[in-house]
Amino acid sequence: MAIAEQDSILALVGRLGREKFAPRAAKYDREASFPFENYADMREAGVLGLCVPTRFGGMGADFETYCLAAAEMGRWCGATALTFNMHACSALWTGPLADDLEMERHERDELERLRAGHYKRIVEKGAIYAQPFSEGSAAAAGKIPFGTLATKTDGGWLVSGKKIFASLSGAANYYGVLCTEDRPEKSRRDTLYMAIPADAPGVSIVGEWDPLGMRGTVSRTLIMKDVFVADDAQLLPRGLYFKAASAWPHMFMTLSPTYMGIAQAAYDFTVRYLRGETPGEPPVKRRMYPTKQIAVAEMYVKLQQTRALFERTVREARANPTKAERLNAYAAQYTIMENANDLCRLAIRTCGGQSMLRTLPLERLYRDSRCGSLMLPWTAELCLDRLGREALYEPGESDE
Ligand SMILES: Cc1cc2nc3c(=O)[nH]c(=O)nc-3n(C[C@H](O)[C@H](O)[C@H](O)COP(=O)(O)OP(=O)(O)OC[C@H]3O[C@@H](n4cnc5c(N)ncnc54)[C@H](O)[C@@H]3O)c2cc1C
Repeated sequence: MAIAEQDSILALVGRLGREKFAPRAAKYDREASFPFENYADMREAGVLGLCVPTRFGGMGADFETYCLAAAEMGRWCGATALTFNMHACSALWTGPLADDLEMERHERDELERLRAGHYKRIVEKGAIYAQPFSEGSAAAAGKIPFGTLATKTDGGWLVSGKKIFASLSGAANYYGVLCTEDRPEKSRRDTLYMAIPADAPGVSIVGEWDPLGMRGTVSRTLIMKDVFVADDAQLLPRGLYFKAASAWPHMFMTLSPTYMGIAQAAYDFTVRYLRGETPGEPPVKRRMYPTKQIAVAEMYVKLQQTRALFERTVREARANPTKAERLNAYAAQYTIMENANDLCRLAIRTCGGQSMLRTLPLERLYRDSRCGSLMLPWTAELCLDRLGREALYEPGESDE
């Protein structure tokens, strides 16, 4: 995307975030409620179509632009940015990422037909998509087929299964569900990506939502029981999700920009607080103490190290990356998720006791930041697993 267009998208998201999302963030966190008002603002500004290609009426953001915009959003409201990731990826994956994959002519035609309907809902009707993949098994880690099954029937599919941590539960119009085609020998190659309408008979949302952080995501449990969806509910043609997951690994690092934004917010807060410029607080300066200056310097270094790896990696992202590019992606995801939480920890230590009262945003940033390392399929642990193994073994190598 041209730099000027990218800049104007970042400016728009920054303005919405600063003026609208930031003042509302504490309420959603306290109530563990979904940021509906923020989504209404995004709908009005056309941001719901951020990753929808321009020829379908969207803003046409590519992977890099999406990641930079999501980081800007995360700076103002983590829960909004994290839920927006689920929505935006339904267009990013089926749009610019899918275009990069090798396909037969008929598959490309089918993709074009399927996504046209899906983008129309977003652009014309302002529909919101969720992305519930996790099932509490090894499926979301990419190790086994999804347990949610889609059985072929006349004119469509019957989908049954359970998804945990379904962010946007009760708020999304469509749940972009990964499931397995019900065949005798099921494999990950049989993964289907389906848009399940929230109001379809057989869809229900159960369970409580009262977590440590990212409370505004409202990630309750989604149950699907013999939900009928038409053939055109598929977001990608059969087999294409598996191809994308293998050929476009950076698709799994789209959760990290949110946490890049939180890291930036923790640093921004610290500087303002030490300068005595926190809105609503007495203008007490604490910047004259050398220990505070050193702490801010250390935070700045860590923030820039994180940001440098983030920006480099989102620029490198493409189909069929080199081994080094793939390892960089794991390293970036790990670094962003762990450093975001560490920067929030340092911010609290540096600013002190009064800074972590609930009247200020820092304690929320701290709690939200802790969630980053838990996000499958690239949790902090799994990034290290992959890095270690893939650094030491070439594909197909073993020690037997
Ligand atoms: C705020 C929030 C919002 C979320 N929103 C969504 C959403 O919208 N959609 C969605 O699909 N998910 C979502 N998730 C779920 C998330 O991606 C993980 O699936 C969930 O946190 C995993 O739960 P768990 O740690 O109990 O998993 P477990 O399966 O118990 O795994 C625990 C840890 O073990 C490791 N592990 C897991 N499987 C393997 C394996 N096969 N091999 C080696 N190590 C493994 C991982 O490091 C993992 O963190 C959300 C999570 C949070 C915290």
